[in-house]
Amino acid sequence: MRLTEQAYAKVNLWLSVGDKRPDGYHDVETVMHTVSLCDTVALEISEGNGISLAVTGDGSVPCDARNLAWRACETFLRHSGRTARVRIEIDKRIPAGGGLAGGSSDAAAVLRALNRAFDSPYTPQQLMELAAELGSDVSFCVLGGTALCRGRGEVVTALEDPKPLHLLLAFSGEHVSTPDAYRLLDADGGEERGGATLMGCLGALQEGSMAGLEGHMYNRFEKSILPTCPAANAYRNALAKAGGVSRMSGSGSTVFAIFESEERALEAQKLLDFEVTYAISVKSYFKK
Ligand code: ATP
Repeated sequence: MRLTEQAYAKVNLWLSVGDKRPDGYHDVETVMHTVSLCDTVALEISEGNGISLAVTGDGSVPCDARNLAWRACETFLRHSGRTARVRIEIDKRIPAGGGLAGGSSDAAAVLRALNRAFDSPYTPQQLMELAAELGSDVSFCVLGGTALCRGRGEVVTALEDPKPLHLLLAFSGEHVSTPDAYRLLDADGGEERGGATLMGCLGALQEGSMAGLEGHMYNRFEKSILPTCPAANAYRNALAKAGGVSRMSGSGSTVFAIFESEERALEAQKLLDFEVTYAISVKSYFKK
């Protein structure tokens, strides 16, 4: 049996970080938004035992048990008590290690595909709970759309689809390790929201208000990460200059900007193509 799932990238429209918890994780409050950039994940399921994995499109991504998609497969089979031979094929388009949750999304796609293949042993909620064992962003990636995520990211509340957004993503190739990003927070003198609020962000999103988003989108990691990623910082400024509302996604270093229309996003892409390593115009992705 062969099954294919698209694994979509996300951006964070709001990301605030609370105190470190006794278990070592920080509490976060984040608005995640699925965009149309995706990897394709195909599963070949047959009788027998064992997992194999092939990745095309990005030679840097591991093809063994270090790959989160592999771990998702192991976790699903162990937890559900199923036995199968599973070959996973991932065609990567989401840049790895850039704050777009590419690995988490591939893992979520594997969970969704296996749940389909075995006639839904898990409800969507149970699948999201299983996903939380793999990583903080995986639960959201199982669901997709737009959601407010709390806890360490795994407590997911779905939000109504906002007006579709037109975005440009720019990635310099400057990799940021998420644990390092959390460590840097302790030394950067605390958050500076400049008047941005989560409620303001959610309101602006529903209204599709560019001015509201400009005032209220926020990412706690920008303050410490952007000074260490000069190219990403330059892209963020260039995207703003091109008329977008620009922020960093996750712990970086991908930056994105929201534009009034697809035309404006594509115009900005043309302007930036000469200086930016990787830029792609994307849209909000909504479930059908
Ligand atoms: P997040 O936004 O969830 O913090 P990210 O987008 O910054 O994640 P990923 O693309 O998930 O980062 O990749 C982080 C690291 O995880 C990579 O450097 C890579 O070696 C490893 N990795 C494991 N599995 C995958 C996968 N399926 N795709 C990409 N990277 C993977």
